[in-house]
Amino acid sequence: MQTYRNTVDGNLAEPASRYEIFNPANGQSLGYAPESDEQEVDRAVHAALLAQKTWAKRSDGERRDITLKIAQILEDNSGYLAELLTREQGKPLSGPGSRFEMQACVGWTQIPASLELPPETVYEDDERKDTLHRVPLGVVAAVAPWNWPLMIAIWQIIPAIRMGNTVVLKPSEYTPIATLEMVRLISEALPPGVLNTVTGDGNIGSKLTHHPDISKIMFTGSEATGRHIVKASASNLAPITLELGGNDAAIVLPGTDIKRIANDLFWGAFLNMGQTCACIKRLYVQEDDYEAVMSELSAIASQMKIGDGMDESVLIGPLQNKMQFEKVRNLVSDARSADCDVREFGEVPEQGYFLPITLVGNIMDGQRLVDEEQFGPALPIIRYRELDDAFESANRLDAGLGASLWTDRPEETIELATRLEAGTVWVNQHGAIHPMVPFGGNKASGYGVEFGIDGLKAVTQSRVISIKK
Ligand code: NAD
Repeated sequence: MQTYRNTVDGNLAEPASRYEIFNPANGQSLGYAPESDEQEVDRAVHAALLAQKTWAKRSDGERRDITLKIAQILEDNSGYLAELLTREQGKPLSGPGSRFEMQACVGWTQIPASLELPPETVYEDDERKDTLHRVPLGVVAAVAPWNWPLMIAIWQIIPAIRMGNTVVLKPSEYTPIATLEMVRLISEALPPGVLNTVTGDGNIGSKLTHHPDISKIMFTGSEATGRHIVKASASNLAPITLELGGNDAAIVLPGTDIKRIANDLFWGAFLNMGQTCACIKRLYVQEDDYEAVMSELSAIASQMKIGDGMDESVLIGPLQNKMQFEKVRNLVSDARSADCDVREFGEVPEQGYFLPITLVGNIMDGQRLVDEEQFGPALPIIRYRELDDAFESANRLDAGLGASLWTDRPEETIELATRLEAGTVWVNQHGAIHPMVPFGGNKASGYGVEFGIDGLKAVTQSRVISIKK
């Protein structure tokens, strides 16, 4: 069985120790992931610190061209990486699965490559001229989750190196292999030390984010870990981009044509088996539309094939890990014992962390499946009477990543949309992120944004040059 390796200072590092990774669809071993120790964290940060000095001196055009080379490498290796991702993470090759994630990796590399942050004149009069320059921060610690491991790592790595920083990335301990392979491949376009990895659990993440030579932390993961990251930043004063969990509400406005929106509602909730930060996690429908929503979603759910994602006809795979599998099962069983209307769809293979697609009706605010982020294929559908009540429900939790409104009259929704407390409010779509459009949470879903020009700014610091005329 293969042992995958960290990339440190341009070399594949000999692991101090290693642990086995298993396919969540069938329990088969996929090989071994390295486990970093504190010395390896030091070596990786040191390599990144040395490399940053020369990397930052490269011209903007050189860094753009190298970033475009990375996009080409990702494209050329997308078949290999997509298969590895399916085996490791569980998401199917087909549909909005691993191949889709690889396309996203390419797009989220090409777009930052094409963007520029030239100096801006912020003030000028007869006596003075002030220009604001964007300069790199230094070494970026990137800490990633297991749900979209490659795409989220790319979101963190690419803007950082594009702007002249260097990176030490720690993938999730659940899904390190595909990320290590991706980093090994794209490192061929980069000078040694610009992109490094360390692996292991939260202890290694903690060592990395506390490190005195870290100048920026990019974190995507749970709220609980986000709070640890904020404390870590007290030791190095690194600014943080904090992308945390969500419990996104979707509100179907009264009288909407349910048949027309049903497919997008379904995938808005069940993308990646619901293991997506900005997925519909609570669906609010007016009582007169409730039966129609239940029956349209049931019709779609009953057509889905659940199974090993290497099978091209499968669109719904297993959950990624046992912890998540147990968590979702518990939330559904809590709803069942409260006499909710639990409807399950799909034939579930016996082996692997598979769960049926689950719609849960007759459920209310305050029940665990509504109030806790399920991060899995179980959608609570809550009836409302007055639209104001639905808005109050949507805003009552501390989470504020995304939200959506569903309507036949999208052009009339701007005022309504601004009432939803979320970083992004989608209309007639959910989770529809784009590399040019800033994305980030409100409230306990984090702070700072990724993507587009604002995402690039977030991995720089400003330097004002003020000249007396
Ligand atoms: P997690 O917080 O358990 O782990 C995320 C990463 O943090 C892992 O690499 C982990 O090893 C590391 N980590 C754990 N403890 C740490 C510590 N003390 N210091 C430093 N690093 C530490 O999250 P997860 O279970 O991997 O991901 C699921 C969560 O992520 C969900 O809540 C989901 O909504 C959220 N998420 C948010 C976004 C977004 O863009 N807002 C995107 C994807 C996922």
